[in-house]
Amino acid sequence: MQAKIGTLPGDGIGPEVVAEGVRVLRRIGERYGHTFEFEEALIGGCAIDAVGNPLPDETLAVCEGTDAVLLGAVGGPKWSDPTAPVRPEQGLLELRQHFDLYANLRPVKAYPALADYAPLRADLLAGVDILFVRELTSGIYFGERAEQNGSDYAYDTMFYSTGQVQRTAKVAFEAARKRRGKVTSVDKANVLASMRLWRRAVSEMAVDYPDVELEHALVDSCAMHLLRNPARFDVVLAGNMFGDILSDETSVLAGSLGMLPSASLNEGAFGVYEPIHGSAPDIAGQGIANPIATILSAAMLLRYSLRLEDEARAVEAAIDAVLDEGGRTVDIVGDGALPLSTSAFADRVLQHLG
Ligand code: NAD
Repeated sequence: MQAKIGTLPGDGIGPEVVAEGVRVLRRIGERYGHTFEFEEALIGGCAIDAVGNPLPDETLAVCEGTDAVLLGAVGGPKWSDPTAPVRPEQGLLELRQHFDLYANLRPVKAYPALADYAPLRADLLAGVDILFVRELTSGIYFGERAEQNGSDYAYDTMFYSTGQVQRTAKVAFEAARKRRGKVTSVDKANVLASMRLWRRAVSEMAVDYPDVELEHALVDSCAMHLLRNPARFDVVLAGNMFGDILSDETSVLAGSLGMLPSASLNEGAFGVYEPIHGSAPDIAGQGIANPIATILSAAMLLRYSLRLEDEARAVEAAIDAVLDEGGRTVDIVGDGALPLSTSAFADRVLQHLG
């Protein structure tokens, strides 16, 4: 196949890890006979420096001409003044809004080889492989709000329509079909009206997926079960705020932020793929960042935007193989062992891809 992929490296370690994601995609193209064309553009702090805008029009134009985008990270101390008129994160938010990226997918997998880095006992981590599907463009983060300086009250509104819930639920059911066939839908239906609508809308959607098991869970008890028995979860579907909190809670099970990819998808096949970590200014420029999260994001790009499932699995298997043979970057290295640089780790991944 032919595909055009936009790359937005961003700030800090972003360019270092995106470069490795691109190398892996190029290798996949060679091995499987696909033609991938790449076009790079600015986002975040580097875009503010260059043109005064964290998401320049030229960047949007580049993204519009692509099938999918691989993004690094934005931000850093240089742009962290809260009173500044423009901030790097605005670039990310505008990108999500512009492309209506309403479904945020965050897989969390516990690697047995990294059990020492996770806060749970190894026996609880065995078999943990969860996919969070979070609604990203509605809910309480986008509802009507009021906050006045000096006032003794403020409010935020959690709003959901059936359509907003069901388009995200569809992504979760479709994903569950290709995994272990189970969706846990998270809500607070015992208290919140918007969450009663959420539960009803998800139940209606489930009728179209008789092969997928649906369970409803209240967010408070779900938060507990995700740590007590994480292996029992397959796909976890949640609204914007609950998904934000639960996916962050669960991310610690992977052992390092450097391991966790994400995808943000819209109604079509287009998506923005990025590691969940930030620009890591403390290690930027040293060539030691863990590229796994970005390489796994590239695998998600192959799976969800380009529909290349075999190729996505090959990349994931190559990462597993490097970890199994002891390849480690600085964030996941054990005492006495030597960490691999960012590019040396990716070299090992390429070796496994052949
Ligand atoms: P961070 O994720 O950048 O770093 C947290 C810690 O994890 C640091 O010690 C860092 O060295 C380490 N780390 C992160 N990714 C790593 C990797 N791939 N390999 C090895 N170690 C890694 O979070 P932070 O320090 O809170 O934020 C730094 C900057 O990044 C801030 O400006 C923040 O606003 C921004 N940020 C951006 C995004 C994004 O672009 N999506 C997300 C979170 C934070």
